[in-house]
Amino acid sequence: MTTDVTSPPRPLGRDAPSEQAGVATHCAYCGLQCAMTLTGASAADLTVSPRRFPTNRGGLCQKGWTSAELLRTPGRLTTPLVRRDGQLAPASWDEALDVVSDAIVRTQTAYGRDAVAVFGGGGLTNEKAYQLGKFARVALRTSQIDYNGRWCMSSAAAAGIRCFGLDRGLPFPVTDIGSAHAVLLLGANPAETMPPFLTHLVRAADAGGLMVADPRLTPTAAKALDGGGLHLQLRPGTDAALALGMLHLAVTEGYADRGFIAERTSGFDDVWAVAAQWLPERAERVTGVAVTTMRAAVSGLARARDTERGAYVLSARGTEQHASGTDTVTAFIALALALGLPGNPGTGFGTITGQGNGQGGREHGQKADQLPGYRKIDDPEARAHVASVWGVDPADLPGPGRSAFELLSALGTDGGPHVLMVHGSNPVVSAPDARVVTERLAALDLLVVSDFVLSETAAVADVVLPVLQWAEEEGTLTNLEGRVLRRRKALDAPSECRSELEVWSELARRIGCSTDFPTDPRVVFDELRRASAGGPADYSAVTWERLDAGESLHWPCSAERPQGTPRLFLDAFATPDGLARFVAVDHAGPVEADDTAYPLVATTGRVLQHYQSGAQTRLVAELAAAAGDMFVHVHPDTAEAAGLADGDRADVVSRRGRTRAVVRVDDDMRPDVVFLPFHWGGDARANSLTHAALDPTSRMPEFKACAVRLEAVA
Ligand code: SF4
Repeated sequence: MTTDVTSPPRPLGRDAPSEQAGVATHCAYCGLQCAMTLTGASAADLTVSPRRFPTNRGGLCQKGWTSAELLRTPGRLTTPLVRRDGQLAPASWDEALDVVSDAIVRTQTAYGRDAVAVFGGGGLTNEKAYQLGKFARVALRTSQIDYNGRWCMSSAAAAGIRCFGLDRGLPFPVTDIGSAHAVLLLGANPAETMPPFLTHLVRAADAGGLMVADPRLTPTAAKALDGGGLHLQLRPGTDAALALGMLHLAVTEGYADRGFIAERTSGFDDVWAVAAQWLPERAERVTGVAVTTMRAAVSGLARARDTERGAYVLSARGTEQHASGTDTVTAFIALALALGLPGNPGTGFGTITGQGNGQGGREHGQKADQLPGYRKIDDPEARAHVASVWGVDPADLPGPGRSAFELLSALGTDGGPHVLMVHGSNPVVSAPDARVVTERLAALDLLVVSDFVLSETAAVADVVLPVLQWAEEEGTLTNLEGRVLRRRKALDAPSECRSELEVWSELARRIGCSTDFPTDPRVVFDELRRASAGGPADYSAVTWERLDAGESLHWPCSAERPQGTPRLFLDAFATPDGLARFVAVDHAGPVEADDTAYPLVATTGRVLQHYQSGAQTRLVAELAAAAGDMFVHVHPDTAEAAGLADGDRADVVSRRGRTRAVVRVDDDMRPDVVFLPFHWGGDARANSLTHAALDPTSRMPEFKACAVRLEAVA
């Protein structure tokens, strides 16, 4: 299925605990998982220093440098809270767990197993992601589990499985990109989201081969232009048209790799039947990207490929977070396949993972349709294998449940869940059309949130459980290149905080489940290894001992591949016939058209200082001081037409809600587009505007394009 012809017998960058004084671990935040050393005896004096590692090459971003502040934030939860007389009040663990377990039993007795739901997160360690899936299926026996990664990587994952037969964000080490002379970034802004990633783009940028497709002139796009590269400033939601126009050019101008297409792919003719209709001029009309720019991007990729200087196409959320996200990524994979990039050394297609454990978190059973090892829950063989590891009857395992938004929008309805447990997620801020989700949360009989800060979701919960954070726990995460990493404990948590592994073990016991739920993460990982054995994401030969010895292990890592698999697909793709699939898709465009009432397209994203819903980074003084206010980027002509000037306050209004923001006039914006970051709640919540139309395959919502207007605030 997969091949690694270069499996090194030595580590690709040591990750052992004994490199230097202090605790060797990885960052609290994003999927780059930069290596760092924590030094100090207590939260008060803990310091962060970067560690040399292949992904970050000794660098950290501002979020990483300041991450120790999280450990000493006054906002840290230190005791369970239970809502009484409308107020969250301190409670003992016994009281809090009694409230939760009583509600689970009462609700499932009254309404059935699926009346209790679980919502996880892409930041949970592998051990917690695995155990949460097991807790839902074995202790609660509910099908109602999904997680916030559905809103992050699901379209890229669905397209990867569709075209390559397997989903691993980067099917090659991130360092491979560092030698490339041409890199096309699709909806990615690593200069702000993961700055150390830029070290892997230096050669491409210096060679004039960094190309960025983004509706905004982001710092990453500006870097590309500075080096003589390209900015493909497309209209939001027209990414698939761009891909098809570029594919048309690749074929008609002789850049397609006919030998690769014939030998290693299937389905080209079907795709060409669609792409042939996408004359570049048509693509220019739809996307706003000039034919000359598209042509330069295609020829740049082909030239770097032909001179063996390396060419990569990398997608991220800007391209993926649409109701047509799976088809859009599929179209760009078709472009990459036509150019012969995937499955060859020095070239490739990949996606850049967002959340800290965005990769591992989507492999071990948090998804509604999934069992550990990236197995499908409706596959009888998969059910039998995992049930044998769990010591239960396969017939007792529930089937597929609702996807994230469908789950949340069913809360408190007839036939929907009445109790929800949330772990590592803040959907009040991060869900699309968040007003609906907030209303549904209020309709629950019981909302239970495990977190270490009082996020917007925790603030409306009935029970809040204070759990361990990042530097207080042991575990593993899997980074954006499928490499398994150790997270190590640097200090003890406040005495009343507990691991979620303990929470699930205790709740399982209280509701009468006889299955063992270990609380030692090393024991949980060993069980995860057995459960994943033979699955697509096979971790069976990964051990904590090997990781602690500094070995570099990318999954699949099994008895057949004991050194792991840094590079996938070099001999064959993971499809039944070993061929990558061209899949015919067409441009659909944004779900919601702009009109005279809502004449602009709003798109959302991140800023340098904040991570996801901002629940953590907003508590770090340095980050809050640097980026404390919600803003909206607006072209000067657009601002003037709305009677707005730089620094004014405005309401951005969609058909679903409104968001208040400070206007930042920006010459580089498209006049028909406004940009908002999504790190704040309350009346500054960008997701009050967004549309919850879902991708038919991935169930990804339409985060990145909705029709809005601007209103001046007196
Ligand atoms: Fe690295 Fe991401 Fe942490 Fe920044 S937030 S230090 S890029 S892992």
